[in-house]
Amino acid sequence: MNHSIRPQRPDLDPGVSAFLDEGPHGLLIGGRWRPAASGETFETRDPATGALLTSAARAGTADVDAAVDAAGRALRDPAWADMTPAARGALLWRIADLIEAHADELAQLESLDQGKAWRTSRFGEIPAAINQFRYYSGWPTKILGQTIPTSLSRTPPGKKVFAYTVREPVGVVAAIVPWNSPLLMASMKLAPALAAGCTVVLKPAEDTPLTALRLGQLLVEAGLPDGVVNVVTGYGAEAGRALAAHPGVAKITFTGSTVVGKQLAASAGADLRRLTLELGGKSPSIVMPDADLDAAVEGISRGIFDNGGQVCVASARVYAHRDVYDRLVAGMASFGSALRLGHGLDTEADLGPLVSARQAERVDDFIREGAADGIQVVTGGHREGPLGTFFEPTVLTGVREDMRIMREEIFGPVAAVVPFDDLDEVLGWANDTRYGLAASVWTEGLSSAHRIASRLQSGTVWINCHSFLGPELPKGGHKESGWGYENGSQGLENYLETKTVVAVL
Ligand code: NAD
Repeated sequence: MNHSIRPQRPDLDPGVSAFLDEGPHGLLIGGRWRPAASGETFETRDPATGALLTSAARAGTADVDAAVDAAGRALRDPAWADMTPAARGALLWRIADLIEAHADELAQLESLDQGKAWRTSRFGEIPAAINQFRYYSGWPTKILGQTIPTSLSRTPPGKKVFAYTVREPVGVVAAIVPWNSPLLMASMKLAPALAAGCTVVLKPAEDTPLTALRLGQLLVEAGLPDGVVNVVTGYGAEAGRALAAHPGVAKITFTGSTVVGKQLAASAGADLRRLTLELGGKSPSIVMPDADLDAAVEGISRGIFDNGGQVCVASARVYAHRDVYDRLVAGMASFGSALRLGHGLDTEADLGPLVSARQAERVDDFIREGAADGIQVVTGGHREGPLGTFFEPTVLTGVREDMRIMREEIFGPVAAVVPFDDLDEVLGWANDTRYGLAASVWTEGLSSAHRIASRLQSGTVWINCHSFLGPELPKGGHKESGWGYENGSQGLENYLETKTVVAVL
């Protein structure tokens, strides 16, 4: 199936042109923009065309030291430490307003840098980033301790014990984010960390530094005190590693691959640094014979094809009851083949290119290996575009549970559909994975929906929907999909310590 790649780009938002022309971009440290100590930069390119967009400072150890130092000073600075909870909430709301005011510009930057379709950026991810700040703006005024009645035998006669807890910011936070949804992932960390009163050093992925840099400019404009958020761009093995290992960092919050997550767990474990990990997934979708099939076809197809499948919760493994299997396969194939591939800025496109040629090659390798093992490609399966970075929405059948294609995260628009006859059998397959990030079940049966949900080993279970995410909904991985949860009140807990005060009166 050939899709028409539409290479044309509409006029750039003047803010985007100005931002790109400003490069090379510096690091935001202590409220000021500065080049890397080494003077080195790295390029960021449009994954659809290979065109150079701009370049950014390549942070090294000295820059990370300076950023952590600035964040440590900001943590103690009365401008931040003594800011009232109401003022902190208002600041978060102001940040949301600024992102909203620059939504077109941020969406274009994200689509240029990451490749994602304009529709996904402008109507999905930028609004979701705004919602993160709006949601957490309500929390600073509601972070409560407790008073605790005690029964301590050591209480001196005639005296009373008064005990209470206070919640305190954990300290300097290292926020390390991936390339698949750059601004949204950064916002998911910044909003609760700031609500809790922490200071942050943000490290965006090397493939997609641009919206983090533009956000840094907006944070300065919002009036965030100097050093409360610092942005260091650079490579994972350099800036990321130095940041995660820095003794001035109290907490690491990481979203990315399970491989790097495990490395961080080992290094953070050595000095018991606090750590939250949001890692990979291989999410199953189970379609029962009584499902609303049209809804299942659309929901699961969007779950795997949106953002080119570069979504941690993507519905990569689809288990359809044999009664509905053929119709589901045909429905997903027709949904996928009707999607339009196009440049990230093409307002008609459903899907843009993958983030890089490297990522497209990785997806391609899975398909070639599967084909050698006898899988059938019902639709898709090819790279397209001048650099081969576009990947067709792909539906596979004839897969076996032991194939790599069913066990490893592909991070591309590739769904494998498998028929099942028996519920116990399919739950066994669904749970037979080292991951446990998300799952969906499709059925009109109220009781069976909740029973299946209770048996799925997964941080999130969706019933008759997929990828329904929001700042109020805790999100995290069971098993090797992560440690801890983001979003909701649990997301705030990541950034708070408890102090117990016991007084004899
Ligand atoms: P990655 O692990 O390669 O990189 C993530 C970030 O870590 C980048 O900023 C990178 O520069 C940095 N990094 C790399 N090596 C590092 C090191 N040794 N020390 C410190 N930092 C380091 O992941 P990626 O390829 O950018 O992103 C894709 C992965 O992210 C997928 O596995 C996907 O499932 C996962 N992801 C998970 C969630 C979730 O919420 N669970 C959300 C989005 C993406």
